[in-house]
Formats: sequence, structure tokens, C-alpha cells
Amino acid sequence: MDHQERECRHRHDLLQAGSSQQAPEFALTAERQTASFSGRGQDPQIGASDAGIFPGAIEGNQLPLAAEAVGVYRSAEKPDILPLGQILRTYLVAQVGEELHVIDQHTAHERVLFQRLWRGWQSRDMPSQPLLIPVPVELSAAQSALLLTRSNELEKLGLLVEPFGGTAVAIRGVPVGLGKIDAALLVQDLLDDVTEWDRASSLERRVQPVLASLACHGAVRAGRVLTHPEIQRLILDWVEEGLIMTCPHGRRTAFRLSTDELAKLFGRVGWT
Ligand SMILES: [Zn+2]
Repeated sequence: MDHQERECRHRHDLLQAGSSQQAPEFALTAERQTASFSGRGQDPQIGASDAGIFPGAIEGNQLPLAAEAVGVYRSAEKPDILPLGQILRTYLVAQVGEELHVIDQHTAHERVLFQRLWRGWQSRDMPSQPLLIPVPVELSAAQSALLLTRSNELEKLGLLVEPFGGTAVAIRGVPVGLGKIDAALLVQDLLDDVTEWDRASSLERRVQPVLASLACHGAVRAGRVLTHPEIQRLILDWVEEGLIMTCPHGRRTAFRLSTDELAKLFGRVGWT
């Protein structure tokens, strides 16, 4: 297994594995960051001071999927960002405002892409970019039929799915702005998403999982070395989207330590 496999655990997995039975809710709620050191229940809560430091930082336990993050910052309110680099080819380290951030490059990028897709969908602006070489994906007859009966609706999301001989399908286009996509893996997730459509209570609940799948597959993967400009761009985009602490599937995007928390960790009372 390499990083071509699914990065984000799909919501079905999350629902099966998690103790909270949120079904049929899409996993939009996520824990507020309250990491404590393992096995040491008495440790102070680390990183729980999101609210108030930056305007628009998420308060409380609910992390809505999209609405909350739109237009969070006015330019004067943006925190300074000092990107420090990438570690383990997976995490980005930065000082953001007065905080130390360790950011998961995949989930943070996925969140950024999702917010953009969501805004695009809301404003009915979902241009598609053609894939130069459509990759045929072999499916069962039932799977193929299921996907193709939804192709008109998927097209409104910038996703062009067409028959490719026999029971195979090909993805001929995806929304603009996504990275390189593994068509076979995307199709698997789309099948899961579309299967749930009949049970979805609203159009939004149909659309969100598909956009989340697109964002997940279009986002940079763990294991990829990023250049400094890429690191800078990703952190800036994530901050501008409102420092949302989870990807749309509920996985954490960052770990944050405030100045106070750092001082507490080191038993620091002054500047000496
Ligand atoms: Zn995800």
C-alpha cells in the first residue's frame, strides 16, 4: 500500500469505527482540539484556545462543513504566517499568529479544496476541466448503471462520467482546481456516495459527500515532498478558509499550541 490508497477514511468507515453513531449525518462535527498527552489524564488541555485568538476561529464543538468558513477574515485581521517547513513528508510546521501549528498537508488541503468546491456549487459555478487521458474503470453492470443514471446530476458538480464500453465507465472531466486524481479510487468513492443518495434528506446532503470525495482525491497526499512556496501557499489558503480543524470527513487538519500553552509546557513564568 502506498499513498495512492484512500487518504481519508470514508464516512462509512468512520461511522462503523466511531463510538458516536452520527449516521446518517455526514461526519461534519469533529472534536475540538483538546489533545492531552497520552495516558496522563491530569495534563492541561493543549491547544484548546482556538476561539478568540483569531477572528473566525471555530468555537465550540460543532464544525459546520462549509458555511462558517466563508469570508472569515478581513484582510486586516489575518494573522502573520511564518512557514517553517515540512516534516515526515506529511506535516507542515508554522507559526501562525502567536501559535505553533503542525498541519496535516492532506487534510488541510482537502478542507481548502472542499470549501472552494462548496462555494462554487452554491454559486452554480462548477466549471469542469477535461482529463487528457480518460481512464476506464471496470465496474459491475449494477455499479455502472448506478453511476451513469446519476451522470446528469454529477455533471452539475463538474464531474463528467461516461460509459466506456461494456460496463466500464470513464471520468472525462473533474471540477477545475483539483490536483492529479486517481480515477479508479475516485469512482469507488463516488459509488459509495451515490448509493446513499436515496437516503439523503436534502440536495446539500447529496452534494457534500461528492464534493468531499473530490476534495480528498484532488488534495496533496501524505508522503509528497512539498516545496517552500507550496508549503506557504497551502498554509495561507488553510488560514484564509478559517483554520477549520477537520477535513470534511472529520479528520484533524492541525495541532495548535498557543503561547500560553507552550509556556505552561515548559514551566515558563517569564522571559528567562
Ligand atoms: Zn477527508
